[in-house]
Amino acid sequence: MSTFKAPKGTYDLLPPDSATFLAVREAIARPLRNSGYGYIETPGFESVDLFARGVGESTDIVTKEMYAFETKGGDRLALRPEGTASVLRAALEANLHKAGNLPVKLWYSGSYYRYERPQKGRYRHFSQVGAEAIGAEDPALDAELIILADQAYRSLGLRGFRVLLNSLGDKECRPVYRAALQDFLRGLDLDEETLRRAEINPLRVLDDKRPDVQKQLTDAPILRDYLCDACKAYHEEVRELLRAAGVAFEDDPRLVRGLDYYTRTTFEFVHDGLGSQSAVGGGGRYDGLSEMIGGPALPSVGWALGVDRTVLALEAEGIELPLPSVTSVYAVPLGEEARRVLFAKVTELRRLGIATDFAYGGKGLKGAMKNANRSGARYAIVAGERDLAEGVVQLKDMESGEQAPVGLNEIVAELETRLG
Ligand code: AMP
Repeated sequence: MSTFKAPKGTYDLLPPDSATFLAVREAIARPLRNSGYGYIETPGFESVDLFARGVGESTDIVTKEMYAFETKGGDRLALRPEGTASVLRAALEANLHKAGNLPVKLWYSGSYYRYERPQKGRYRHFSQVGAEAIGAEDPALDAELIILADQAYRSLGLRGFRVLLNSLGDKECRPVYRAALQDFLRGLDLDEETLRRAEINPLRVLDDKRPDVQKQLTDAPILRDYLCDACKAYHEEVRELLRAAGVAFEDDPRLVRGLDYYTRTTFEFVHDGLGSQSAVGGGGRYDGLSEMIGGPALPSVGWALGVDRTVLALEAEGIELPLPSVTSVYAVPLGEEARRVLFAKVTELRRLGIATDFAYGGKGLKGAMKNANRSGARYAIVAGERDLAEGVVQLKDMESGEQAPVGLNEIVAELETRLG
């Protein structure tokens, strides 16, 4: 072991488990690619102000959890705590919304950073795959995103997740509700900090997990009762489309989520096998975000699914993804000449796209065959001096254990045929 360890709240992805992570990212991306979403990659850091304005000055993410720093050049930057603000910033900067094809549909995959109190399922460095549909107000778009996330989880074999759905209203009806909620909160027995939060962002108080706070919130006004007719109709249409698609959801009038930019549709995917960190993904509509960061009005909707927690959900359900074996052929040379001859065959096989590995380091037959076994290869090719003198290699089927000599000039074609 070296003197160094992975920083607190982080962990390394190592083989073979890392293959599951790749497969999860791929499974989430597949339905998006199949639905008109193009891949976008943005920097790992952005101006602090983008997140302060975008995610919200009063959110935990911005006030407590951001890795913010000043560069040598004096720029105030932050490691990205989430993806939406960056993606919208990039789309606006490149004028994607002016190319005439709205909504602009984008998907991304990457690392995100939050200075949180680490625990199982909650890390300081984590991984998300996300999708954003920018510049259209259409309940079908909200439904599409929820359906695609549902499809992604199902394609992984997950069954123990639920979709929680709510509407947060719009700039017409939310302020009315906000004021009513604030009135209600002012009458409660709350600590200083919570009272302050009630003034800045009262909806966030609904999210407070402490039992003594929750108890007092039983009779809190509910946003649903304040939705304007347009928001009600919009929300009803989203629900109707989900029902028609056979995607089950639960109405959760208390769902507010920790980011300030959401309007109308908000949703969260929770998994019941994960304990306290049960949210595997979430998202919603953010019709005002573009204007908040200095852009034109661009109603948009998106989500981000957590890769780390999706992997934990797979473990909780005892699901092992059918991962193809990494190596198909494993070459075992016995002696110097065989090393050169077999190495050339390995290169040839790889150029044909056959996953091949080689016993490096001059191992003996026994050790090398153990490695061949561990590699999961279907075939081993073994050659010693005598084989080469006869112009053959031994081809061993690792499944049946059968072994037979094959001509040196035929072996590549033979393996290609057998591996189809
Ligand atoms: P959020 O941006 O907070 O809505 O997060 C979206 C998803 O990202 C969550 O549902 C989690 O699956 C994942 N996520 C957020 N924060 C963390 C974290 N600190 N550690 C691991 N996963 C996280």
